[in-house]
Amino acid sequence: MPIQKVDKIWMDGRLVDWDDARIHILTHSLHYGSGAFEGIRAYATSNGPGIFRLTDHIDRLFRTCKIFMIDVPYTRDEIIEACKATVRASGLDACYLRPLVYLGYGEMGLNPLPCPVNVSVAAWPWGKYLGEEGAAKGVRVAISSWRRHDPNSMPPAAKGTGMYVNSSLAKIEALKSGYDEAILLNPQGYVSECTGENLFLVRDGAVLTPPFSAGALEGITRDTIMTIAADLGYEVRETNLLRSDLYVAEEGFLTGTAAEVVPIRSIDDREMTHCPGPIALKIQETYNAVVRGEVGQYKNWVELVD
Ligand code: PMP
Repeated sequence: MPIQKVDKIWMDGRLVDWDDARIHILTHSLHYGSGAFEGIRAYATSNGPGIFRLTDHIDRLFRTCKIFMIDVPYTRDEIIEACKATVRASGLDACYLRPLVYLGYGEMGLNPLPCPVNVSVAAWPWGKYLGEEGAAKGVRVAISSWRRHDPNSMPPAAKGTGMYVNSSLAKIEALKSGYDEAILLNPQGYVSECTGENLFLVRDGAVLTPPFSAGALEGITRDTIMTIAADLGYEVRETNLLRSDLYVAEEGFLTGTAAEVVPIRSIDDREMTHCPGPIALKIQETYNAVVRGEVGQYKNWVELVD
């Protein structure tokens, strides 16, 4: 679905008209994937738009930049304020937000250190990433023939633009084969995550997810779900998962800012025992209320724009 335009995009300290948010063709990050980014959602709350775990997302953006030795020319607070200003300028109650730190125009070649560092924040309306039907009835997932990066080739803890070639290869393969999403195994054969979501299984009533050391991104939704699930009384465990664990799980679901909580219907054509399963459904319902600031104990996760 094409991106829906709004009025303004924040670029290097000011809000510019959407159609003027342009870069030079010799922008370093365009050639070498040397950027860092975030995907964040703002939701309509009873107090106006609230950005879910904004500070945690900006902290992850700075961690990514630290890994890539990118010196961000703004403070965390300035980028947080830029995100709020972008939501305000969009006039939207709910939207997706895309902060991007990229190496700009000026130097070429594989030493990124002398490059200028630019920052932008865009906001636009974005519906459910894996579709309304996917969120309600579950998605069909396949294990990819592509492996998640080896952590000594590309650090999975970093949300770097170039890293996503790996995810796109797996996504294309899944879609062309008639599935909705792919699961990537790591070089050791353990489950890491999906192309843009973390993965959870339910086995014997316990909620399981791969550890970061298996190559999963430090997902903020993942952390949210682990907290919610534990508070709901479920046993939550980070554990290495094998391919066969995927096939025999009672329930499964994916989590991510764009996708939110999406039940898994089948993996490699093995149907999950329940879809949507009772635990996935309870967690999904709770998540949908938490992000809108409707659950008292998690209200501090919702950072109001005004
Ligand atoms: N894994 C990958 C590869 C992702 O791109 C994302 C989306 N940022 C996630 C997991 C989920 O992370 P989050 O919950 O922070 O959106």
